Amino acid sequence: MQQMCPRCHEQYVIKSGISNAGRYAGLVGVLVANSTASYQCPNCGKIPMSEFPDEFQSDVKKKRTLSVIGAVAILVLVVAFFGWRVM
Ligand SMILES: [Zn+2]
Repeated sequence: MQQMCPRCHEQYVIKSGISNAGRYAGLVGVLVANSTASYQCPNCGKIPMSEFPDEFQSDVKKKRTLSVIGAVAILVLVVAFFGWRVM
């Protein structure tokens, strides 16, 4: 998903906030980071979500929802797995 910067219309925006959380927290961290990631332009810096076109905003919201559902599903599976082993 590549989105042109809504300010300068010269650069593609970059998703930020993924790398560190993902490195330390594994898959769940990636999913959580994905749900809170922000976008920035190499020229203009951080761009608020409200400046992006509606189409892009709804696409991001959809992906965030899926990420949250995925993170919850993994947590439930992990808890179920360890709960089963304790018994
Ligand atoms: Zn820009």
